[in-house]
Amino acid sequence: MESWITSSVTVFVALALVSELLERWRPARRVNRLRHIVTDLGSFGFAVLLNRSIDALLAPVVAAHAPDSVAAALSGLRGLPTWAKIGLAVVIADFCLYWIHRAQHTWDWAWRTHAWHHSIEELYWFSGFRTSFLHSLVYNIPQVAIPVLLLGMGTFETAICFAIGMVIQFWEHVNWRVDLGKLDRVMVTPDYHRVHHSVTDRPQKNLAPTFSIWDRMFGTWVDPRTVPLETPLGIGEPIPKKAVPRMLAGV
Ligand SMILES: [Zn+2]
Ligand SMILES: [Zn+2]
Repeated sequence: MESWITSSVTVFVALALVSELLERWRPARRVNRLRHIVTDLGSFGFAVLLNRSIDALLAPVVAAHAPDSVAAALSGLRGLPTWAKIGLAVVIADFCLYWIHRAQHTWDWAWRTHAWHHSIEELYWFSGFRTSFLHSLVYNIPQVAIPVLLLGMGTFETAICFAIGMVIQFWEHVNWRVDLGKLDRVMVTPDYHRVHHSVTDRPQKNLAPTFSIWDRMFGTWVDPRTVPLETPLGIGEPIPKKAVPRMLAGV
C-alpha cells in the first residue's frame, strides 16, 4: 500500500511539473491559477480518497461473492497478459464513461452531479479534478469495477489504470497551446475538451473522456478548429455562494 502511495505521488508530481512547464511555455489562454487553487485542491483530495475507498471496499466483496460460473467465463479475459488487460480496461471504462457523461448532459437529475465540473471558467492542469461527490462516486464505479470485477486485476494493475486515468485528467484540461493534427480524430486533446467546457446550454459535444472515436461514432463530435480559442467557458451565469455546497455534493 505504501509503495502504491509513493508511486502515485511520484506520478502526480511528475505530471504536475510537466503540465506546469507546458502551460508556461505555450499557454492556450490567460489563466489565474491562484484564484481557484483552494477549491481545486479540495476536489482533488476528495476524488483520490473516494477512488481508493471504493477499490478497497469492492475488491474483497467481489473476491468473496463472485459465482464460480462467472469466474470461469471470465477466466479467459483474466488470463490475458497484464498490458492487454490494462489496455482493455482503459477502453471499456472509457466507453462506459462516455455514456455516463452523456447521461449527465441529458437529464436534469444527472446534470446536477456534473454542474460543478462545468463551473470551471479557466481551464488549467489542476482544474479537471473539480468534480462533485456524486460525480466522483459514479465515475469511480466503472473505473474500479472493470479492472477488478471483469478482469480480476490485482492492486498493482488497478493502480496502473488509476495512474493512466490521472494522466488523461491532466492532459484534457491542460492549458497548453498545441495542435496535434489529426490525432483529435482518435484521442481527446486539450483543444478538443475545451470545446466541451464552452458556455452553451449543457454542451452536448465532445463528451468523450479519452477516445474521441465515441463522439464520432455517436454523433457528438465537433472539430475544435471550428471553435474560437477565446470562447467563454463555464455555465454562463454567476454561482451564488449558497449554491456551492449543493453543487459540491452533486444534488
Ligand atoms: Zn460535461
Ligand atoms: Zn472537463
